[in-house]
This record gives sequence, C-alpha cells and structure tokens, in this order.
Amino acid sequence: MTALRPLIAGNWKMNGLGSSLDEARAVAAAVDAHPPGARVAICPPATLVHRLAEALGGMGVEVGGQDCRAELAGAFTGDIAAEMLADAGATLVILGHSERRAGYGESDALVAAKAGAAHRAGLEPIVCVGETLAEREAGRTLAVVTGQVRGSLPEVLAGKPFAVAYEPVWAIGTGLTPTLEQIEEVHVAIRGVLAEMFGPHGQRVPILYGGSVKPSNAADILRLRDVGGALVGGASLKAIDFLGIIGAA
Ligand code: PEP
Repeated sequence: MTALRPLIAGNWKMNGLGSSLDEARAVAAAVDAHPPGARVAICPPATLVHRLAEALGGMGVEVGGQDCRAELAGAFTGDIAAEMLADAGATLVILGHSERRAGYGESDALVAAKAGAAHRAGLEPIVCVGETLAEREAGRTLAVVTGQVRGSLPEVLAGKPFAVAYEPVWAIGTGLTPTLEQIEEVHVAIRGVLAEMFGPHGQRVPILYGGSVKPSNAADILRLRDVGGALVGGASLKAIDFLGIIGAA
C-alpha cells in the first residue's frame, strides 16, 4: 500500500494578528522553493483564515481552522460552521483539541458530530486525542486514547480524508515529551483501532504526534512506526522553527 505523505500542521491557537501573516508567507515561500516530503498546513485563529488563504493561494501550504460547530447555521453566537471555514478558504480543521475538551467540556460525541460537519463541508478533520498525566500515571493511557478514537470518529468518515492527532495533554506546551517508545506504543494502538473501524482505509489514515515537537526532536519522532506527521503548537509560530520541523519530515 502506498504510504501517504506525512502531514505537518501548525496550530497557532489564540496567537496571531495581521502582522503574523509574514511568518506564514516565509513558510510558504520556503516550501515553494524547496518542496518538502510532507504536506504542510497552518491553522491560524479564525480571524486570519481568510486572509491567510488569500495570502498563500496557489502556494504549497494549506490553511485550516481550529474548531467548528456541528450545525450548518443558526442562533449560535460566536460560533463558526464548518461551511464558513471552507468558504473562507480552509481545507482542514482541528477538532477535539484537549484545550477544547478540557476548557469547554467537549465530549467524544460532540467531537464526532463536529467531524461529521467537517466532512459535510468538504474539510479534512484532524481529530485530537490524548491522555492526562493522571491517566498516564494510573496506567490508563491506551484505554483512554483508544476510547477517544472510537468515540470521536463518525462512520461517515469511512473512505474519506481525515487524520488523528495523538497529543498527550501533559506534553502540550510544556516542553515535556513522552519517550519514543511511549509515542510508538500509542500510535500502534491507535492504528489497530482505525483498522478495526475503517478496514484498509484505517491502515492509511495519518496519525500525527503533537506535544512539544521542535526542530531538535522532530526527526526522531517522525520516523517512528505509525507516526504520519506532527501537530505543532508553539514551534509553528516562527517560520524558522516550523521549517526546521518540516525539513525533518
Ligand atoms: C498543540 O497544542 O496542538 C501542541 C502540540 O502544542 P505544543 O507543540 O506547543 O506542545
């Protein structure tokens, strides 16, 4: 089976003003000059999705959202539909990030509904899963993560483009990373569930690792079994760091 190109996606979180577009332009210029082995995406705050998509149009960097609402439209003040992200030029959307699961009480069922909405809008969802430190210390990592995978991916994604991101909650933004063995163990377990759920397609779904990925550790992480890319927070904000990770893929 042909291997997919790894996906390196930057999550800017709630960072970025118009002036930050220059960092994204620098990434896109470098990617265009020396096309990497990986697909590259930047997920800025919603306010910048359209501007970034316009600025990078035709270049080799895709633009994604960081969340969407499951409904198509309606009285949901402050929320954004998947169709709105697509209309603004996004091709992907991060869903179920631990900062949303923890901060907004997002359940697996809600994340699954959002993933269905992303598919409806023609977006590729990147569905995040990951254990807390307490769950890891209690020996529950694989049970938690595989449970989240089962609960957060709707059947409608069968045969459709989507990715899963394994992001241990305790490794996000902390500078801590699991050992390479720990990362591989979880990715292999996720692959097993994806294969059960989606058959041959599940063998090909990219499983990204996220949590304090930086230029210095990216190459070691990206060559692990069943690691199909990276979801990058802090190190995606500066073109030089993000390009260092892209170059390692
Ligand atoms: C993230 O929030 O998706 C993330 C992986 O953050 P960081 O790379 O900063 O740990």
